[in-house]
Amino acid sequence: MGLLSLWAESLTYEYEILKSCTHHKSPRSKCKKCVESCKSNAISFVKGIPSINSEQCTQCGDCIAACSVQAVAGIFPERTVKNHRLVITGDQVPSIKELLVYYKKGITEIAYDGELSVHWRKSIEDTNEILHLLGEPPFTFMNEKMEEATIEMTRRELFFSWKKEAKSLVVKMAPAKWRFNQEDLQLAKYYPSHQFAEITLDTSKCTLCKACEFLCHHKCLNISDDSFILNAQSCSACHLCEDICPEKALTVIEKVSAHKILNLPVVTKVCSTCGQNFKTLIESDEVCVPCEKRKNLLDIH
Ligand code: SF4
Ligand code: SF4
Ligand code: SF4
Repeated sequence: MGLLSLWAESLTYEYEILKSCTHHKSPRSKCKKCVESCKSNAISFVKGIPSINSEQCTQCGDCIAACSVQAVAGIFPERTVKNHRLVITGDQVPSIKELLVYYKKGITEIAYDGELSVHWRKSIEDTNEILHLLGEPPFTFMNEKMEEATIEMTRRELFFSWKKEAKSLVVKMAPAKWRFNQEDLQLAKYYPSHQFAEITLDTSKCTLCKACEFLCHHKCLNISDDSFILNAQSCSACHLCEDICPEKALTVIEKVSAHKILNLPVVTKVCSTCGQNFKTLIESDEVCVPCEKRKNLLDIH
């Protein structure tokens, strides 16, 4: 390990939640993936926003991998790579997401010395199931004796090495630049012909209010005058659209499948009650949303 790397390894940063957290975007977000991923119970909600207790945080990196919108900042713990093999050391088991990223970076073998723990094996086997759905060969296991001196790269170095700007690291030594680049964990960009989530829309409920389109940070939803396009390729399953939709018209499930785009026609109609033009996804609709709501209110009373 070079001097620069040793210095980087010696740095510690407290983990923190960034403004990109879905709870900063809407109080209706129900996401608590980081809280659920933390085995040390170091994350809790304070005034509706997740907050990390640095005294309890062990910097295991699980919350970084769990967050769908890369809103947890921090540095992953040490991970070792040797000859394009991920070397199993310690108890920090990588998440499926992390392994899928390594895979696309050319690390397709897992090397271990002696026994492979149940947790490591489970994570790798679960990842292999996803790789199968993605049409990729699985990770292979190598049981071999490890020589400490031959270990070449830690996980932190590994992520640094992926950056094109790695060559100019020396001139970019501001601490913020040394932080793990969360964007590296966006699976969509590594597997462009697949999607990791499925978005479904109940057209009979949607009022085309555009709230979902406005809040989706990955621009998966696009509503124009003549169509509602749902493109789940870059959907990270943050569920924010589902949580904020006032009509409960959207459903997002985590599921690997071939990339497909759903293009739903939007039609312009004349409201039979008020006579105004209105947009709808249902060809047979005769009444605009405000008139429909007014009618429902009157029916209740
Ligand atoms: S996982 Fe990410 S988006 Fe969800 S609550 Fe935690 S920081 Fe916010
Ligand atoms: S799906 Fe929900 S949030 Fe999106 S436009 Fe339709 S009603 Fe509005
Ligand atoms: S489509 Fe919904 S669940 Fe997917 S990234 Fe956008 S807001 Fe999140």
